[in-house]
Amino acid sequence: MLISLIIPCYNEEEVLPLLYPALEDVMGRLSRFDFELLFVNDGSRDGTLQVLRQLARQDSRVQFLSFSRNFGKEAAMYAGFCNARGDYVAVMDADMQDPPALLPQMIELLEGGAYDSVATRRVTRQGEPPIRSFCARMFYKLINRISDADIVDGARDFRLMRREMVDAIVSMGEYNRFSKGIFGWIGFRTCWLPYENVERAAGETKWSFWKLFKYSIDGIINFSQVPLSIASWGGILLTALSFVMITFIVARKLLFGDPVAGWPSLACMITFIGGIQLFCLGIMGQYLAKTYLEVKKRPHFIIAETNREEAVKVK
Ligand code: UDP
Ligand code: MG
Repeated sequence: MLISLIIPCYNEEEVLPLLYPALEDVMGRLSRFDFELLFVNDGSRDGTLQVLRQLARQDSRVQFLSFSRNFGKEAAMYAGFCNARGDYVAVMDADMQDPPALLPQMIELLEGGAYDSVATRRVTRQGEPPIRSFCARMFYKLINRISDADIVDGARDFRLMRREMVDAIVSMGEYNRFSKGIFGWIGFRTCWLPYENVERAAGETKWSFWKLFKYSIDGIINFSQVPLSIASWGGILLTALSFVMITFIVARKLLFGDPVAGWPSLACMITFIGGIQLFCLGIMGQYLAKTYLEVKKRPHFIIAETNREEAVKVK
């Protein structure tokens, strides 16, 4: 049995020297399995690649895929899935926020045979800015309501999967990727393992609030068509409203004979409707832009350097 661990790394030179011993320890306790550690260097600007080269020299289980530039965590995970050969495959952050110590338990659950994947979720969000936690919670509520991808609040990308599930993920070659949605969409029997939030071991987060916000919009657009129907329902509602107003104005003219009153109300209505129209155009534009990116079929990632034989370098 081979277990692949996919570890996306972007400027993680400070944490790798902490992560590797932790992984070594866990692998030592699971000696009945073979391991491959697939580090994906996502165009880091610091010494991450040097650290990985060094680790690879020491330990033949360490394999690295180094991108030609920063393609983002989603691309890094996809590159990992495309290259992983394990019977079981896990994705894990480099910063130890996905505790390696959970792995033995995850493997045990998968071995039990009742599940195809073991996923983790944090039940606390200690150490995170409150505003960020609040927005995250709102996001999960919203996306579960408007899409059929089943996404659990606090779900991490950290999960261990069987080969069949990995093949299904690789087959989903969409350009705009949102893994939490993809994991839910493909189905399979998933067991959720709750754990207390752990803070990053060293270094700093790569996700600014703005980046997270854009990522959440991506998630919604990739897994729901509800925003598009908001546009059409808004249009229908406004048309109905305009009929009511026309009736009102005609009736008032017939009864009281006062047709010209108040250009301010007119100005307000024009800006209001103009705003709604632009908003709806914007929604359609978002979907169109995504379609444009999909249609171009550019690769998700480009690997510039690797120590792995027969790696999938572009996909
Ligand atoms: N990451 C990546 N590419 C990026 C941003 C992040 O590969 O463009 C990796 C990063 O190295 C880490 C994981 O994604 O292993 C999660 O990132 P981080 O810990 O900064 O996010 P947070 O846990 O704060 O949400
Ligand atoms: Mg982190």
